Amino acid sequence: MSELQENKMPRWGMVIDLDKCVGCQACSTACKAENNVPHGSPDEQRSRRDIFWNKVIAVTNGKYPKVNTELIPMPCMHCDHAPCVTVCPAKATYRREDGIIVQDFRRCLGCKYCIVACPYGARSFNSKEQEEKEYHRHDLPPDRNVWGQWPFPTRTHGVVEKCTFCFHRIDQGIKEGKKIGTEVVPACVEDCPTEARKFGDLDDTGSEVSRLLASRGWIRLREELDTKCKVYYLLK
Ligand code: SF4
Ligand code: SF4
Ligand code: SF4
Repeated sequence: MSELQENKMPRWGMVIDLDKCVGCQACSTACKAENNVPHGSPDEQRSRRDIFWNKVIAVTNGKYPKVNTELIPMPCMHCDHAPCVTVCPAKATYRREDGIIVQDFRRCLGCKYCIVACPYGARSFNSKEQEEKEYHRHDLPPDRNVWGQWPFPTRTHGVVEKCTFCFHRIDQGIKEGKKIGTEVVPACVEDCPTEARKFGDLDDTGSEVSRLLASRGWIRLREELDTKCKVYYLLK
């Protein structure tokens, strides 16, 4: 983004280039480390009950022997018309003015309505009872620990959680006068080895995300639902 317009909030979004994505899942690992997302036990991993805020799913088309598999990275879509927000009875999930859909863990009742309402499988129920020492964020070097203290509210058993576009990084970056989208990006964008992911202000015509969307064909997932996702996929 070129600059934060004085009178206008940005509308943060992500562009993922499917041509560049190799399905390595470095984004998922970066997200887990950044946000202290708990690891499932081997049994939970085998039964696919592990928690991911960002997963890479495989979509297979065609019939053998003409089978085509696409690998699609899936963070929360940060829908402008978010069904999860509409159904939450506790107002624990809401849309910030900059378009990020956040989750207030202190208000979350764990009723799972939002999990049912989300068409993208972006949400996970945290069934873990984690000790502070189990979180991996302590292992990060100090310059990655942007909060300078406990980085993310401790989640306990019984809350629903999901991708936040690493809003703690964005808020800290704005406070420090840094350029969001270049100097400061979410962890998954920073750690993608092929630079398949870009982040920035969708309403700023000069941002890299806007330029990419203007120059290439793209899709948003399940457009027919009119959720108005802010995660776009550049087509191969
Ligand atoms: Fe694709 Fe980048 Fe994620 Fe690897 S880190 S799966 S290349 S988006
Ligand atoms: Fe809510 Fe799901 Fe949309 Fe994310 S992808 S904003 S969790 S409905
Ligand atoms: Fe995870 Fe942050 Fe990327 Fe969302 S934006 S998938 S919270 S690393």
